[in-house]
Amino acid sequence: MLSTPRCVGCGAVGVALCSTCVDGLQPAPLVPPPPGVDAVASVFSYEGIGRRLVLGLKYRNRRADLGALAGSLAAALAEVEPWLEHRPAVTWAPTTARRRRRRGFDQARWLAAGLGRATGLPVRRTLVRRPSPPQTGAPRADRWRHPAFVASRPRASPWRSIVVVDDVATSGATLAAAAAALHAVGSENVVAVTLAQTPLNCADRPAETV
Ligand SMILES: [Zn+2]
Repeated sequence: MLSTPRCVGCGAVGVALCSTCVDGLQPAPLVPPPPGVDAVASVFSYEGIGRRLVLGLKYRNRRADLGALAGSLAAALAEVEPWLEHRPAVTWAPTTARRRRRRGFDQARWLAAGLGRATGLPVRRTLVRRPSPPQTGAPRADRWRHPAFVASRPRASPWRSIVVVDDVATSGATLAAAAAALHAVGSENVVAVTLAQTPLNCADRPAETV
């Protein structure tokens, strides 16, 4: 069903994200890539308008906006391109089955599809999320440990380079878990692009993770 788009930042009618709000997006903070990820790039910082934008995608089923954001993901991918050793496939870090049922869609999957359309790269479903407690509100140490993914073992040779797409990177735990699963089935080179990255304080990362 089509409806009149409204800016997720300020509610202005007519566009998914108005130019004033685009100007208000904070640049993504530079963070070290999570373990197992060769490079990561994000489009904006998860704060202010950027945070409202991501929450709007998650909780208000703004599927049309996801397509509009694919172009900005392609720009983020260009930043990590030097770390890609082979022509990659695009995949995504799937949300939980429960959330997907409640929302009716998986925003990471739609972002990955949009990135595939924008770049011409193949999009492949490879990751399956094992059940784990919801991350929202969980202590940060728990978020680091969860979630876990398994990657489907490819029938032919594995994609040697993979781009993992997600809507927001917080601790990096999700991307690290995705990378571990992909390496386990033979991918050699994993990069990640996300719409948003939370400002990351060094003290937030548990010391035991290397
Ligand atoms: Zn706006």
